[in-house]
Amino acid sequence: MVRRIHPLDSLTIDQIAAGEVIDVPASCVKELVENSLDAGADDIVVEVSIGGRERIRVRDNGCGMGREDLIASIERYSTSKLHHIDDLQTLSSRGFRGEALASIVSISHVTITSAERRGDDLICPATTLVAEGGKLLSITETTAPPGTTVEVASLFFNVPARRKFLKSPAKDSQEIIKAMTCLALAAPVVAFRVITDGRSVIGVAAEPPDLLKNRIRTLFKEPFQDNAFDVAFSKDGFSLNGVVADPRHARSTRSGQYIIVNGRPVTSLPISYAVKAAFATTCEEGKHPVFALHLSLDPSSVDVNVHPQKREVRFSDEEWVRMLVQESVSEALFGKRGFFPACSMPLTSCSPSLPADPDEDPFSTWRFAPVEEPPSLELSLTGSSAPSTCLAVMGDVALIQPPCKADPPFPVSQGALLLLDLRQVLRAIIYREWLDRPETEAPELLLVPVTFDCSAQEAALIVEHIPQFEKMGIFLRAIGSHTFLIEGVFKRFVDIDLPAFCLDLVHEGFLEKESVKEQFCKRMATSYVAAMRGLRPPIAHELALSIVGRWAQSGFPAVSPDGKPCFSQVTPTTFKEWIAKGAKT
Ligand code: ADP
Ligand code: MG
Repeated sequence: MVRRIHPLDSLTIDQIAAGEVIDVPASCVKELVENSLDAGADDIVVEVSIGGRERIRVRDNGCGMGREDLIASIERYSTSKLHHIDDLQTLSSRGFRGEALASIVSISHVTITSAERRGDDLICPATTLVAEGGKLLSITETTAPPGTTVEVASLFFNVPARRKFLKSPAKDSQEIIKAMTCLALAAPVVAFRVITDGRSVIGVAAEPPDLLKNRIRTLFKEPFQDNAFDVAFSKDGFSLNGVVADPRHARSTRSGQYIIVNGRPVTSLPISYAVKAAFATTCEEGKHPVFALHLSLDPSSVDVNVHPQKREVRFSDEEWVRMLVQESVSEALFGKRGFFPACSMPLTSCSPSLPADPDEDPFSTWRFAPVEEPPSLELSLTGSSAPSTCLAVMGDVALIQPPCKADPPFPVSQGALLLLDLRQVLRAIIYREWLDRPETEAPELLLVPVTFDCSAQEAALIVEHIPQFEKMGIFLRAIGSHTFLIEGVFKRFVDIDLPAFCLDLVHEGFLEKESVKEQFCKRMATSYVAAMRGLRPPIAHELALSIVGRWAQSGFPAVSPDGKPCFSQVTPTTFKEWIAKGAKT
């Protein structure tokens, strides 16, 4: 009988296993840097070329390895960090599986030079190991500064299937920058430099252990500068530290959420949900808050061994973690600073959720205009005359008299007033304007060009999409590794916070793919409205009026591009009842 079943040779086993640990160049960088952190390094330099597929070099000043350890380090399941499965209960190192170096060696050409520290010697005896495709090629004695340098060349050279599925070098570089940003966030006491294709993209100095927020601000810039909320909470062996951004920075994906659990960058839906719950109604539905948080708790209450790349963790008492995360973030947001919610008021006609105090005058949060005030014609957005009067503005809702000069394409009850959702109306207007805009539009040079800083990740994305920005009417160029200069824009963009708009376009990811025109205009309108300065509460009466004017010019759209109502009708009687009811509930 012919035998069909046979054991795999060790290289094939290693290559298959490598696929789990090293799927893209970024995971190779991550494993090497985690090893440097585990080796106690406080200065790590990462250099990559061509998205990491040509070369990855990680240099650290950690404890280094002697000759025998260096040879053992590339063996599969060889580790200095774990002896027994029970050690996982108290583990504080990033690695423990002893798989990374073996995996990397099996799919690339690797040179490791390592020197164990000897007192204060700047140069120590060292060993250089060269291996390729799982085979040790040479071991030589040399001298080197204390620490380890791992150089990986021709990653995936012998795994054509993996090479075929690699993304573009630019995308791979972005993934590497993202992974490095997370690791730099996880270890604020370590200095990091990241250089891609000769360009320095991350450079952060070591911070004192208690200054995590400095690291957060250096890495991520804007959302964590002004108006951000510091989190510093500790209770029953649980502690949460970091910064949560103002809800107006919330994104439609979780791309702005950075979670470090016991020093490990992870994704964790329970934590994301708990933070969102803490934001309550201040964060719009469908949006995700932006935050960078370090969570520390007893290692025995976290299982780190649930993902081959250790990107996820499981908590022994998930409910307890959720509760405490929610409590800590809620305290940071609402605790001492009397936070004013910047969210939209839902425009359902009968169940308003007014943030009112029963003892307060129900009208006190509304900003009423004197009724006899003539509608301002010097409007910031258009010069059109408003067809109706704006009586009051609260949050981003305006109470207006129904249009009278032009016939609105919807029935209005006798004596009714309209509650106009200014954001939805503006989205509807911008959407229509953008759909009908002429194909050729010349940009206007800005008298005062706008500069802005962003994170390394955002910078890499912007650099890649400069032509797409130009197509959209934003002319910018890099003037530093994370600094851009906006020199010209289409006229329609002058009212908005341009840096916020550019970053929103990047986060929404829609510069990446060609989308159908309607889809594109819809998302553009959303980003535009999010970046409009004047729409941040308190909204000026004049702006509300000008939006009403533009609404008329646009033909009174009744719904936003995704079908949300732009207004609801109220009669004076129901409006008063509504306010009174809102005040009592
Ligand atoms: P793990 O990190 O899971 O132990 P690796 O394959 O990543 O497995 O590394 C194997 C061993 O090699 C580590 O346990 C460590 O002892 C040693 N090692 C790897 N990289 C370094 C480094 N940069 N400095 C010192 N020792 C290292
Ligand atoms: Mg490791």
